[in-house]
Amino acid sequence: MTKQKYDALVIGGGIAGMQAAIDMADQGFQVLIVEREASIGGKMIVLSKVFPTLDCASCICTPKMAAAAHHDNITIMTYTEVKKIERAGKGFKASVLKRPRYVREADCTGCRLCEYVCPVDIPHEFEGELGARKAIYVPFSNAIPQVALVDLDHCILCAACERVCPTGCIDFLQEPEEQAIEVGAIVVATGYELSSAAKKQYGKGMLPNVVTALQTERLLAPHGPYGRVLRPSDGKIPDTVAYVQCAGSRDRSLGIPYCSRVCCMYAIKQAMLLSGALPMIEITVYYMDIRAFGKGFEQFYQNAKAMGIAFVKAKVAKITEDGNRNPIVRVEMIEENGQVEERKYDMVVLSPGIVPAWNPAGVLSIDTADDGFLSCTQPKLAPCRTKEQGIFVAGAASGPKDIPDSIVEAGAAAMEASVYLHESGVTTR
Ligand SMILES: Cc1cc2nc3c(=O)[nH]c(=O)nc-3n(C[C@H](O)[C@H](O)[C@H](O)COP(=O)(O)OP(=O)(O)OC[C@H]3O[C@@H](n4cnc5c(N)ncnc54)[C@H](O)[C@@H]3O)c2cc1C
Repeated sequence: MTKQKYDALVIGGGIAGMQAAIDMADQGFQVLIVEREASIGGKMIVLSKVFPTLDCASCICTPKMAAAAHHDNITIMTYTEVKKIERAGKGFKASVLKRPRYVREADCTGCRLCEYVCPVDIPHEFEGELGARKAIYVPFSNAIPQVALVDLDHCILCAACERVCPTGCIDFLQEPEEQAIEVGAIVVATGYELSSAAKKQYGKGMLPNVVTALQTERLLAPHGPYGRVLRPSDGKIPDTVAYVQCAGSRDRSLGIPYCSRVCCMYAIKQAMLLSGALPMIEITVYYMDIRAFGKGFEQFYQNAKAMGIAFVKAKVAKITEDGNRNPIVRVEMIEENGQVEERKYDMVVLSPGIVPAWNPAGVLSIDTADDGFLSCTQPKLAPCRTKEQGIFVAGAASGPKDIPDSIVEAGAAAMEASVYLHESGVTTR
């Protein structure tokens, strides 16, 4: 039975939301995490390894997910969205909508017998649509909660899953469930998405061997869709790969004039991982300028150059393909007097702009900045504070950010929320 009154609501169960929730829960506050996907983990759980330490992302993110899930003071509602939040005194009243999984969460053991008998195969979102999933599925191997859900849009209602389910937890009659919740403070940690603004220019979705950097994270993950790096069209091991930096960011004409901050570093990381996985591979990174601003980042970049990865200052204008589905990159070489060349690769990786995952308009009375990210009233001295007292923001929801910065900001937001709860006296304690 879900409790209806919490000290704090955290919207978004990515690394920032989980950290903010854990920090508040460790202080004894009752925290509710509302996550719109079927598992917590956000984008970090999708990654292969993380710059600049090359830690396995899954190995450091999964314990954080477990810590949040097993914390006595944290309740997690997945597959749930916030519909409306209104001020009530010094606290807030929220209404949240839990979407039906068509599987009773309390009874599902995550045994996956339903998956084995389901006859339907669909591109798997978690694998960047490079692998397949069933119409009934546990979101991914280390998802939390380990509970299946039915994708009714693709289910053929054959009932094979119902017949094998040992606990009889499949329930096709489940309805969306709206719940009213009272909270004292709110941390918004809704993160980011990759922009599709440059899709047409670079053929994404039309050229099978042009993939995004998030898809490449899955290709590089040891438990990824193919178990090794293969190009999507024909399973060939790529001998040549090009990275296209700022693919739709730092471009006013596409509405994303800002720098997405993490792309230089993740491209360098991926290029190093690809070189490690395929020692004979030739990698070229086409960039405008390399922004290696963080601790240890410049050395990381120099290491990549020493490994033989080519960094070419150039602007990629267009990508087409030849008859064998090899991408052809049309590129303006900035350091060679703007000379235009066409170069053929086995695979191209786009580093697209980062855009906000959520717009609070109509749900929550906080502002967004010109770039669409959540805006803070005191960006220098209190970067987590919004214009609404008691509502704080953490992680990439307020702008592109790497994991360490998201964690630091989550801690700061948790501290601000905790001070607000103490000062306003709106706690359940
Ligand atoms: C290709 C790529 C590689 C990267 N590699 C690295 C790396 O090696 N090292 C590094 O430090 N950083 C890396 N990053 C950056 C890293 O992904 C981010 O720093 C981190 O994910 C930010 O965490 P977050 O919790 O703020 O946002 P997210 O990870 O985006 O999490 C936000 C969560 O909120 C949920 N949500 C959104 N809207 C709602 C809503 N309305 N209601 C409920 N829930 C909602 C989302 O479903 C998601 O679970 C990489 C980024 C990319 C694109």
